[in-house]
Amino acid sequence: MTTRAWNFSSGPATLPEPVLRRTQAAVWDLDGSGIGVLEHSHRGREFMAVLARAEALVRQLAAVPADYDVLFVPGGASLQFAMVPMNFLGPAATADYCLTGVWADKAAAEARRFGAVHVACSSAADGYAHIPDAAATRWSDAPAYVHFTSNNTIYGTQWRQPPAAPAGVPLVCDASSDIFSRPLDVARYGLVYAGAQKNLGPAGVTLVIVRKDLVARGHADLPTMLAYRTYAEHQSMYNTPPTFAIYVVAEVLAWLVEQGGLAAMATHNRAKAAILYDELDRSPLFRGVVRADARSDMNVTFRTPSPALDAQFIATAEAAGLRGLAGHRSVGGMRASLYNALPVAAVEALVACMRGFAAAHG
Ligand code: PMP
Repeated sequence: MTTRAWNFSSGPATLPEPVLRRTQAAVWDLDGSGIGVLEHSHRGREFMAVLARAEALVRQLAAVPADYDVLFVPGGASLQFAMVPMNFLGPAATADYCLTGVWADKAAAEARRFGAVHVACSSAADGYAHIPDAAATRWSDAPAYVHFTSNNTIYGTQWRQPPAAPAGVPLVCDASSDIFSRPLDVARYGLVYAGAQKNLGPAGVTLVIVRKDLVARGHADLPTMLAYRTYAEHQSMYNTPPTFAIYVVAEVLAWLVEQGGLAAMATHNRAKAAILYDELDRSPLFRGVVRADARSDMNVTFRTPSPALDAQFIATAEAAGLRGLAGHRSVGGMRASLYNALPVAAVEALVACMRGFAAAHG
């Protein structure tokens, strides 16, 4: 049997061991049905139970109010970049975007295909190393919605609090890289979306939590598969949903409940991130990339003094069984993704490796 590496990948990312073990068994036989989860009809009672369980667990974990729909949509978070404006923006309307990185920029670029985009704030000037504050934010007169990215996967910044959108304006959040890593006050949002492949499960499905009145307000003339209404009216089962991905998401959600829910997860994640940030603050060789008040608990970005030494560290870490530490190709350096399922022991192993490397190269 091979030894599993510590996986710091930004996504698809490490999953909880009990989830992987249960999934292994379910691939052969789902709940004693004599049929594996990959082979079940999506309309059969066994998969319907899986889907109902996934939705119920989302509602339980985030205390989702009754006037919100919980939807499972294919196409990744990138499809949400387009579905949000397709449903809620029109040629005569403006949406406000907070630009805190490439993913936020991509979301805004999709919106520009359907209406006007007002840049309410941006951290581009310092290479997205901070989160803009209220004083640096200007809303347009009557935005259709405000869009922001709660955690910026590439840069390693995270909003502590969502931006204070003007009263009555729906707040839309791309929470792909920090969903359910901390408590989520759903009532503050019009819509929250997150690709599953970081904190929720495998690639292939995106969780959307959306207020029902917004779903109803969505444009009527959209292609069927691009309207939120379709997913809401058919319990995410208008067509064949990504059944396996939804199964694993349900297992991850059940694991989150077993861990004590979102508040416990936040404590766990904060503690993990603190171990690494403390090391960066004291290391003679490594330093953090972003402003201290914007540091993400999910993606920790750091560097040595040179790209050559960064590459050498990444190779050293790989040889020690620490994988996925290279920064995003657009920024270089290192990035350690510390999603829910990553154990403390992985962070401790990383810190030990950094110390050894610093001693040898400092
Ligand atoms: N938003 C954020 C914050 C991301 O980190 C990513 C992917 N890393 C995306 C959107 C795009 O997600 P997908 O690949 O599911 O379209």
